[in-house]
Amino acid sequence: MHDFSKLTVGVLALQGDFDAHLRQIASVGAYGAAIRLPHQLSEISALIIPGGESTTMNLLVDRFGLREPLKVFGASKPIWGTCAGMIMLSKTIEDNQSGVRPLGLLDISVRRNGYGRQLFSCEEPIRVRINESETTVNATFIRAPLITRYDQEVQSLATYQGAPVLVRQNYVMASSFHTE
Ligand code: GLN
Repeated sequence: MHDFSKLTVGVLALQGDFDAHLRQIASVGAYGAAIRLPHQLSEISALIIPGGESTTMNLLVDRFGLREPLKVFGASKPIWGTCAGMIMLSKTIEDNQSGVRPLGLLDISVRRNGYGRQLFSCEEPIRVRINESETTVNATFIRAPLITRYDQEVQSLATYQGAPVLVRQNYVMASSFHTE
């Protein structure tokens, strides 16, 4: 078992599924911090942007003055975005009528609700390859974004129905699905 007791992981707690992530972080013995203000980013080693509703999250990121601080954080520290978090981290959103302005930290294009409404909620075991080892993860897709393009700098760590659903570029990782 790894010792995570010295690790402080922030969860962006503006909206969405942040509580479940904070509980998961505590369950592996790390310290989880709910992040709402820019100065709190200096107190954490890594950040999770949870699932939720990207339109609302987008508005709150601006209201709380977090847009630039998040971009700076993601350039040198690990960020993982799940579902709406992936949409926020992406470079472009296809057919973007919602006005969500993504942070552009991950060179992918996504289509919101890209698996269709029928995948409103579905749980699938998928194979994930991380740091040279392979494991099975129970992935829950809830109106999940579909990755429609990814740059060659972006690594695909897991696929589902032929499309990447877990990707990584430098310090930034994103999953179409929830694990929490
Ligand atoms: N469909 C949602 C959005 O566009 C994301 C859903 C989720 O995070 N579970 O923001």
